[in-house]
Amino acid sequence: MDIETLKKSLNENLRNVPDFPKPGIQFKDITTLLNNAEVFSALMEFLENHYKNYGLDFIAGIESRGFIFGAALATRLQVGFVPIRKKGKLPFTTIVEKYSLEYGFDEVEIHIDALRDKKGAKVLLIDDLIATGGTAEAGIKLIKSLGGNCVEACFLLNLAEFNSVKKIEKYCKVFSILDI
Ligand code: AMP
Repeated sequence: MDIETLKKSLNENLRNVPDFPKPGIQFKDITTLLNNAEVFSALMEFLENHYKNYGLDFIAGIESRGFIFGAALATRLQVGFVPIRKKGKLPFTTIVEKYSLEYGFDEVEIHIDALRDKKGAKVLLIDDLIATGGTAEAGIKLIKSLGGNCVEACFLLNLAEFNSVKKIEKYCKVFSILDI
């Protein structure tokens, strides 16, 4: 599937849920894309082609929807998958990165041995969506703290109103399929 056809079918298969999880938020629901075998496969095939020559060592997915795309892509590219999780979920020793939310802060963690001690490991960071970019920025910092090289950050959706791609481009290349 070419990029324009893929964008069109992603657009058609996303569901916008107003006022979830709180009033004023337009939640972009990807479950309606995941249960469409043709669209989900076409997306993964597209990402496989995009990343097959990057020489990646790992794909790091951000909890929780980044796990779905990240793990599926990792098996296609035959590279390891690394979860970046909300604080308190990972069982082994972790490093933590704090980041600001509109009100307050949140924290994400990674296992200290997530990159198998491979210094300079080429890592792709992946999530379903970038809004303020705070989560992605924290994820990149975690990868760097482990000695990894975050070569690109990949998002299915970029909420363009936040203008966050610029912020992430300070650290690495950014690839988003749909800007909405
Ligand atoms: P941010 O750190 O502001 O870039 O937020 C990105 C994270 O929050 C991602 O893991 C998204 O899955 C989630 N997220 C933020 N805004 C939305 C939204 N409008 N719809 C769905 N997920 C969202």
